[in-house]
Formats: sequence, structure tokens, C-alpha cells
Amino acid sequence: MSEKIAADLVLRGAGELVTMSRREECGAVPRGALAAKNGTIVWVGLEEGLEGAVAVADDGVVVDAGGACVLPGFVDAHTHAVFAGERAHEYAARLGGMSYAEILAGGGGINATVRATREAPLEELERLTRARLDSFLAHGTTTVEVKTGYGLSLEAERKQLAAARADHPVRRALTLMPAHFVPPEFAGRPDDYVKHVCEADFVDVFCDEGAFTVEQTRRVFEAARALGFRLKVHAEELAHTGGARLAAEYGCVSADHLIYADGDDLAALRAAGVVAVALPGTSYTLHTDYAPARAFLDDGVTLALATDFNPGTCYCENMQAVISLACQEMRLTPDEALYAATMGGAAALGLQNEVGSLEVGKSCDFIVLGAASRHELPYHFGVNLVEGAIVGGAKTVSGGDRAGEGPS
Ligand SMILES: [Zn+2]
Repeated sequence: MSEKIAADLVLRGAGELVTMSRREECGAVPRGALAAKNGTIVWVGLEEGLEGAVAVADDGVVVDAGGACVLPGFVDAHTHAVFAGERAHEYAARLGGMSYAEILAGGGGINATVRATREAPLEELERLTRARLDSFLAHGTTTVEVKTGYGLSLEAERKQLAAARADHPVRRALTLMPAHFVPPEFAGRPDDYVKHVCEADFVDVFCDEGAFTVEQTRRVFEAARALGFRLKVHAEELAHTGGARLAAEYGCVSADHLIYADGDDLAALRAAGVVAVALPGTSYTLHTDYAPARAFLDDGVTLALATDFNPGTCYCENMQAVISLACQEMRLTPDEALYAATMGGAAALGLQNEVGSLEVGKSCDFIVLGAASRHELPYHFGVNLVEGAIVGGAKTVSGGDRAGEGPS
């Protein structure tokens, strides 16, 4: 008699368990089940095999999906989720024909966000961030990348970083996006600076027309790499400037936006193993072209989908909306979009061995849909199909409420 696997959480009653263990059919298993211990998945299989294989602790949690579809939580690999102030009126002004330059000249645009973010006390930024993370989670995102970059001074960037780490069940990857790297007050003391910023995982640069040039980006990359950071880049969004090729040269974890990426760029990204992050919500908001995500996949480039959540160009924390846009506007199949929103996002954060799929050894992060099939996701658009989420096995949420009740 073989010994049973000990677990403190089991999921049963899934009409379809979408494991993402492979691209084909997203690794979906009809009537699949899983078990976890201490937040890590220890068993995945058919529900009929669950009882024979797994022993649940007496005080263990049993999640019954009631015939619904269960997916890995979404991994949103590109957000600017820590900021203060609001810019809703700019959206209306832009639709009314005002240019971004005119909005900037009137004191709005990114400058308004930087001003409000600098002025906000840490506690206020933390409160705003937690409320946004609640919403990310309610819409099915269990891992989210958060960038700084609205501080643009050492003190304000550190405050943003601290707010990004606010106590909340959603798993976070942190990216510094400072305008200048080692700031003058730390000149000659780079180690001290590292001590202050090393809570971040990545450094990201906005390399584009009107932002930083390839040569300036290269200088930031050199400094960041010397300090041990992994690299990301905003590239080829506004014009074709060479940012994608630079990402390949420096072995960035991801290159993001890529609306103007060409065939040579794709070949370089693929050869260097750089993940292409497409942000269709931004194209939707700005009424611009969409990144050629279809070509990324056809050329064998690893694709991630993300929201780009930010107050200026994409005020949307809902990965379900991004998946719908990717299918409608980028011509991805629903399964390609779902894979890019989970495993693709994980790869864009270097977390592909930890999150993004429901496999033994990975974190027990899953969402329960109010639907029996994953095919409802891009098709039934404009509503929230996520009914419950589990992050790290033990922490549960339901209907957007934090902690306490699990999905039922
Ligand atoms: Zn961005």
C-alpha cells in the first residue's frame, strides 16, 4: 500500500481544471482536481483519483468548485499601480480633441501624477495600492508586477516602492523605473544606494521617441546590471527606435509594448529569449495600432499579455478585458491569449517555475470562474467572470472581499 500525499487544501468539483501544463488546449483536464500543502501544489490529477492519492488534514480546506472552470490566477506582468491623484477629466478632454501636449501644458498628464504621488504620504499611497490590489484580485490576478517611476526623486521612488510592498495577499514583482539611476546624493556610495533599492527585482527604462534614447537606456542598463538587477524595457511603442534590439543585446527578461517591432526585432528577441509583453488595453485607450502579437507567436517569440494599468493610458486592472482585446484585435485564439495571460506573464517576470500553471511544486494560486468552460472568457466580455481566488493555498478571497471566505 503506497502512502498518501499529505495536504491541507484540496480543490474538487471542477468541471474543467485548466492546468497550463502545456500550450495545447491549455492543459485542460475535465473533472481535474488538485491538492496543496503550505501553499504549494502537491498533487494534480483526475478527481476520481483524489481520494486514493491524497490525505487531507482534519482542519484542511476543501474548495468545491461546483462544476465551474478553474484556472491558474492571471499573472499581470506590467503595471504602474502605485500613484496618487486622478485624471479622469483628461480622458474626456482627449476624446474632445485636446492633444497630450496641450494637456501637459495645462499641468496635466504624467506631471500631474508625479506631483500628486510626491505629495501623498506613504500611508495614503499604501491605502490606494491596497484598494487597487483588491480589484486586481477580484478580477482574477494573483501575481502582479508593479513599477515605480512617478516619484522621479530618490525619496519619492523609495516611497512608491514601500507602498508597492503594502500588506496584501496578491503576489508582487517589483520594478524600479527611476528617471536617473544612481542619484547624486549617493554618488560614490553605490552600495548604500543598492541597500535602499534592492527590494526591487527589475529595472525598467522607457526607451522611445520623446523619452530616453537607446544610448541613454544603455547607460542605465550598464549601471543596473552592475548592481545585479534584471532588466526590462518599454520599447517601440511610439516609434521604431531600436529598443527591442537593445533588449536582445542585454538579455532583458522582457521587452514591452513593441507596437512598431519589425521582423528583425522579433528574430533578435527570440534568439535572446526575451519575452514580448503586449499591452492591448493601451492601444484601445489611445486608439493606436496594436502590437503584432500574432506575428510574435508565429515567429516563436514567448508572448505575455498584461494590462499596463496606469492613470494616463490604460486605467484597467482587468486581465479578462485584456484577453478579450487580444482575441478581437490581435487575432489570438482564446487558448493562446489565456496562455499568454498566465504562463506568458510568469515568464515575463522570471517566475515560470513558481506561478502561471497548476502543476506540482508551483504555488497554489487559482481562480474559480462563474462558468463551466474557459471558452467563456474572451467570449462573454465586459463582465467579471471570476467568482473566487486562492493565493498561496491558504489565503482566500471571494467576490472581491479579502480573506475569510473561500469560493463555494
Ligand atoms: Zn508601462
